[in-house]
Amino acid sequence: MNALLTPDLSQTTLNSVTNLDFLTRERLREIQWKKLDIMVRHAYANSPWYREQMKAKKLLPGDIRSLDDLYKMPLVTKQVLRDTYPFGLFSVPLDKIVRMHASSGTTGKPIVVAHTREDLAVWAQSVVRSLKSYGVHQNDVLQNAYGYGLFTGGLGLHDGGQALGVTVVPISGGNTERQVMLMRDFGVTVVSCTPSYFLHILDKAEEMGTDLRELPIRVGVFGAEPWSEEMRERIEERAAIKAYDIYGLTEICGPGVGAECSHQNGTHIFEDHFYPEIIDPETLEPLPDGQEGELVFTTLDRFAMPMIRYRTRDITCLMTDECPCGRTIRRMRRIAARTDDMFIIRGVNVFPGQIEAALLAVEGTAPHYQIILTRQFGGLDDVEVRVELKPEDFSDKIGVLEGFQRKISHEIHRVTGIHANVTLVAPGTIPRSEGKAKRVIDQRVI
Ligand code: ADP
Ligand code: ZN
Repeated sequence: MNALLTPDLSQTTLNSVTNLDFLTRERLREIQWKKLDIMVRHAYANSPWYREQMKAKKLLPGDIRSLDDLYKMPLVTKQVLRDTYPFGLFSVPLDKIVRMHASSGTTGKPIVVAHTREDLAVWAQSVVRSLKSYGVHQNDVLQNAYGYGLFTGGLGLHDGGQALGVTVVPISGGNTERQVMLMRDFGVTVVSCTPSYFLHILDKAEEMGTDLRELPIRVGVFGAEPWSEEMRERIEERAAIKAYDIYGLTEICGPGVGAECSHQNGTHIFEDHFYPEIIDPETLEPLPDGQEGELVFTTLDRFAMPMIRYRTRDITCLMTDECPCGRTIRRMRRIAARTDDMFIIRGVNVFPGQIEAALLAVEGTAPHYQIILTRQFGGLDDVEVRVELKPEDFSDKIGVLEGFQRKISHEIHRVTGIHANVTLVAPGTIPRSEGKAKRVIDQRVI
């Protein structure tokens, strides 16, 4: 296999791995094109699905002559992965596959993905680059509270952490009291989990009389679900840490497709491995950098299961300005919304993240909330937003509570244009999550 495509994880390459963040744009595009050419040829030769799709479009690998031709390739949707369940898109013999992962999939069968040893090395390298961009180093102790198993969070951070040489504590999600105890006893300096689970850990720590601000934790590695800037502020303040974004999805590998740098101003994409495009989700036409649309990825060096133009359903834009950190790999605006989570209320499109930002803008609210959608007998939809107040702001005085309700409702209306019924609930009543939070409960009968 091409040396470009078989990364070596020895110490000597650890520094050169991060150099990939700082190539000239010309060199980067050259590498991207070389890899894309190989990837398209590999998919055509070894995947009946890609071959059929390309034939239907009268495309041969030789018709893709540069990165600018990529748009000619067919798009891949989650439905394709469902239809080809379980191994339909595998493009190497099973004896080359060393691991499979699966994403839960809300309905029916999960999505299955496969990795060769080299694929896993690319993924681990991307997590190494993520951790380095947060300033994590070999003396750090990383408590990895992402779930282990078919979900990619746990093993993704685990392999990357080990490849960098930090001390990994593979605690997985759950058992929150023990999380707090180990953070304290092991001198943990870096924590990785979903932002919603970290909130739960913070509450539990408080209950146990442990102030995370007094522990040596300096970095949080948060992702797997959208989280607002308001949420980041709350977390950073309460734990006295820097809370960084890590982005990824099972279909491409898992966490480490992109990561923030110390400027926290957008998520750098490791685009020498994961080539991003933005398309208009309606017309499917490619959009230029700077315009908002659906994010599409092409894996440039994943052999077990190439993903060429995979539609993520995540909405963002690629940023056009240079980052002060000097990285030349492009940034995307942090993912605040995915098309699947959008709900339509009385004709208005709403994303849970907008509601989160609105209610956290009100002083006194706690970052625990749930959105319940119901349908009236006549067919009109209603939105109820259940939100907790901070214990110190929770009062049994009706006037105080009504004041909060008015403020929150007003803010939600200002941000989204919808009228939501706000219910204030006692601290601790909204179910806590140990992984991805379930923010929307849709009780509408379709
Ligand atoms: P599922 O699609 O079942 O949730 P995954 O675990 O593969 O399975 O989740 C990937 C999705 O999670 C992404 O497409 C994106 O919507 C969301 N996600 C992952 N990381 C982030 C992040 N840092 N910010 C916002 N959303 C994220
Ligand atoms: Zn940067």
